Amino acid sequence: MTKAKASTAKKRVATVWLDGCSGCHMSFIDIDERLLGLASQIELLYSPLVDRKDFPEDMDLTLVEGSVSSEEDLHKIKIVRSRTKILVSLGDCAVTGNVPSMRNPIGVQAVMQRAYLESNLVHAAIPSQIVPKLLPVVTPVHAVVKVDYFVPGCPPSADTIYFFLTELLAGRTPDLYSITRFGK
Ligand code: SF4
Repeated sequence: MTKAKASTAKKRVATVWLDGCSGCHMSFIDIDERLLGLASQIELLYSPLVDRKDFPEDMDLTLVEGSVSSEEDLHKIKIVRSRTKILVSLGDCAVTGNVPSMRNPIGVQAVMQRAYLESNLVHAAIPSQIVPKLLPVVTPVHAVVKVDYFVPGCPPSADTIYFFLTELLAGRTPDLYSITRFGK
């Protein structure tokens, strides 16, 4: 099924790390030598793997790892969405909230108390600076901005990510139904 015309120009690609464990980015790197083939079709302009601080304008594709947990995450994903044609939730934390959302029933205050007062006996204090302020609840990415594609898995395998990217770059809609799912 064709969604968009394939283009010979290199696609402007980013990866973003919100509240996740970095496992989805590790899986992306596990594409290994096939990354060399992808490099002929994409230009990775922003990522934890790239030393760039500002999110570029006019991106073709952005993969997002992690859920939206803090005010910083929320601010960032809104900027990313406004500058990206295709936004992809990569991994179960981005798709469903997954592990970070386990704090939702507990509440922010109880989490902060446990993390900074009860667990740190040397310098027990809830930080008021530097650490981004937590949102009352953790949400998946699509709860706050429009998401175009979902790639479930914890993490999605390197083969899954490679298949997804190559299908998309070929101008097809990736059919992930048979190769990945939540928790896989
Ligand atoms: S989906 Fe799994 S591997 Fe990816 S960031 Fe979340 S916990 Fe880590």
